[in-house]
Amino acid sequence: MLRADRWGRLRDGVRRCQLRRGAWYPVLRVGADSAVVVVRHQSVIVPPSYLEIVVTRPSKWSLIARERYAVCPNCAERVALGAVPERMRCGRCRGVFEVELEPELSAPH
Ligand SMILES: [Zn+2]
Repeated sequence: MLRADRWGRLRDGVRRCQLRRGAWYPVLRVGADSAVVVVRHQSVIVPPSYLEIVVTRPSKWSLIARERYAVCPNCAERVALGAVPERMRCGRCRGVFEVELEPELSAPH
């Protein structure tokens, strides 16, 4: 497991990028006009404005409500959803995680 002290995911509305929506990636560096994230063992540079950044690895499913799927916080598996459960087991990594309450990726704050 790569040690990172920050984690980032794409904000809502960002398109055409190597990062998958809803998945968290280790953030190596954040500068004024570029951020470096690790995507499939490679460093990828994106504008920092593309990212929502947190300091601890999230443990909840990302909810992409508009497209009706959730993304596992552990392995980034995508799962299509009907009704949104409070918690859910991942069929790929077998982890059980709560589902975030936000209806979409969080707005900038
Ligand atoms: Zn998983």
